[in-house]
Amino acid sequence: MNQCGSPPRTYYLWTIGCQMNEADSRRLADGLIALGYGPAPRAEQADLVVLNTCVVRQSAEDKVIGRLSSLKGLKRRRPDLLLAVMGCFVGDIPRLQQQYPYVDLFAAPSDVDAVLALASQPTSRSCNQPTTQLPGSPVAAYVPISTGCDHRCTYCIVRLRRGPQRSRPIDEIVAEARALVDRGAREITLLGQNVDAYGRDLPGQPTLADVLQAVHQIEGLWRIRFLTSHPADMSEELIEAVASLPKVCEHIELPVQSGDDEILRRMGRRYNVAQYRDLVTRIRAAIPHTALATDVIVGFCGESEAQFQNTYRLLEELRFDMVHVAAYSLRPGTPAARWPDDVPAAEKERRRQAVDDLQQRVAGEINARLLGQRVEVLVEDLHKGKWRGRTRTNKLVFFADDADWRGKLALVEITWTGPWSMLGQVRGEAEVTDS
Ligand code: SF4
Repeated sequence: MNQCGSPPRTYYLWTIGCQMNEADSRRLADGLIALGYGPAPRAEQADLVVLNTCVVRQSAEDKVIGRLSSLKGLKRRRPDLLLAVMGCFVGDIPRLQQQYPYVDLFAAPSDVDAVLALASQPTSRSCNQPTTQLPGSPVAAYVPISTGCDHRCTYCIVRLRRGPQRSRPIDEIVAEARALVDRGAREITLLGQNVDAYGRDLPGQPTLADVLQAVHQIEGLWRIRFLTSHPADMSEELIEAVASLPKVCEHIELPVQSGDDEILRRMGRRYNVAQYRDLVTRIRAAIPHTALATDVIVGFCGESEAQFQNTYRLLEELRFDMVHVAAYSLRPGTPAARWPDDVPAAEKERRRQAVDDLQQRVAGEINARLLGQRVEVLVEDLHKGKWRGRTRTNKLVFFADDADWRGKLALVEITWTGPWSMLGQVRGEAEVTDS
């Protein structure tokens, strides 16, 4: 009970999609808790339900629509329930309001403040006391440094929903990262739809390398990552910053999307295969043992078997640590939606599976090299009785131990490796780099 004698209001937050949505949801949860809300385990028990949505593929959009439909009955039974939708599902707001009249608020992607304004409205049911008691933060936390994107990739719905790039000033980013570290975070991932283009829209045009330098100075922060990069925007200055700043992890997410020049041109990616290959060579020369991850879309409009084979061969040649592969999904409103989506679904799935099988082999071989070695693992949580954490190169490692390792750096000897994770035995605490 609060001072008004009524129970505190509660929120239920449903999040799907990318790390940007996860970061927005964390900021929203912090804001709601500061307003006096508490988390509810289920939508049925909450006073405020927020759906933080994704439409990057049709399957994600279908989930959102399913969730919205299931909440219609709840809202009818409990008209006082506040229902808000944010994230990339929110495009044409008047149309959405017509289609889903029972939703109280459609907020633009990342517009956390609009949801907080809705949550601040007094209701007849309760009266909340603001609190500054924020809960601990995850060991590995996200900080958005820019939203939106100025590229024009022809398949991409995200830039249509999130608009042009807007970067946050460096001092604001540092303040948020420092607050997370004060609450227990030891690793910060800096997020942007195109993180490499950070700052081009700000006075003086600061760069991502400048952000890395500034965040690097936060005491108590041990690791820094950033994503997602764009091959046409990754500068030498950035590669040098990753190579020279000890807290910045040897881990780069660099989507290639296709290994065929004609497909890349039609995707509007602004680089060709030779340029991408050259960039990978320069990164690997400057940052030894770096882990590279990539994204690939198979079955893009008009992709022939030969063009798919070009992608397959490039992946075989460059041997990524991780490949996120997706079958092309037509997104209405994008330039590519005007072209025939002519690769049959079964053929898209065959190509997706072929890439998955290849990557399983490649990642298995790369990880097997760590067998018997000692690696530094930042432990994030306990999962099914084992401690779970990541190496600097973003490899998932599990180990069993009775001590409390959450938020600590463990030195782990690897005893088993697979393509997606590893097992090990803890050998002690690793030395912390905090300079
Ligand atoms: S770089 Fe391309 S795919 Fe990525 S958000 Fe921008 S437009 Fe979309």
